[in-house]
Amino acid sequence: MRVLLLGGTTEARQMAHALKSAGIETVFSYAGRTNAPVAQPVPVRVGGFGGVDGLVRYLRAEGISHIIDATHPFAAQMSWNAHHASAACGLPLVRLERPAWRAQEGDDWVHVPTLDAAREALPQARSRVFLAIGRMHLASFAGAPQHRYLLRLVDPPKEGLPLPDTTVIVARGPFDVAGDTALLRDHRITHVVAKNAGGSGALAKIEAARALGMRVILVDRPTLPDTTVCPDTETVLRHLNHSAERGV
Ligand code: NAP
Repeated sequence: MRVLLLGGTTEARQMAHALKSAGIETVFSYAGRTNAPVAQPVPVRVGGFGGVDGLVRYLRAEGISHIIDATHPFAAQMSWNAHHASAACGLPLVRLERPAWRAQEGDDWVHVPTLDAAREALPQARSRVFLAIGRMHLASFAGAPQHRYLLRLVDPPKEGLPLPDTTVIVARGPFDVAGDTALLRDHRITHVVAKNAGGSGALAKIEAARALGMRVILVDRPTLPDTTVCPDTETVLRHLNHSAERGV
């Protein structure tokens, strides 16, 4: 068995450790979006494959037998590419996917389908917004320049930001509720905008908003391919072992 592990999440790192402990040969793949990706216990490759065709070539050249998609739930393009490439090569594909967050009693959540809809869900009046969406799609909020935005990014921004009034904090998760509650208070935040990432690493801001009774505008997950989905690393390992026993 030789596994391609598509990463970029806390869960992917946990999966890499589980595969290493199980003695399963693994290549970890990063898109290469951050300056200093977290070290992994297995060999790492970095950068796009070149679409479905490039991934198919890579899978064949590297003798990959199984693919684990442990990308972020919003990294839909990579998940679809993995789906098509695995079908083209006849390789088993499993997705490690953290369950989406669900609103609890007292939560003030507004669900929206896209980042553009999230911008439209903000008030017209100037507000103080914790825009917890990473750096890739900030331009979606350029149409609402009246707000003061708090950004938390993994790396310092290299070029100018598309928003006129921002405070940038450079930090890498996981974060904790006490810290995020203090952050929201200190910056007098009125709204949190986040993607429904699920999992524990990014949950602190949601719990902090809950504690403060603050409105959260939550972007729903994109549609991902219909494939085998496992909620944790143990289930993925069991699935791999079953498929190896069946000779696939
Ligand atoms: P995306 O839109 O699904 O992917 C765009 C392209 O980036 C893919 O077509 C692929 O290029 C390359 N790519 C993505 N993940 C890759 C991986 N693990 N290994 C090699 N190439 C990869 O993804 P994205 O939303 O830009 O996210 C990029 C990475 O950041 C993902 O790995 C994801 O897990 C991580 N991440 C994303 C988010 C988010 O909110 N989207 C949040 C946290 C972490 P080619 O077509 O050239 O192969």
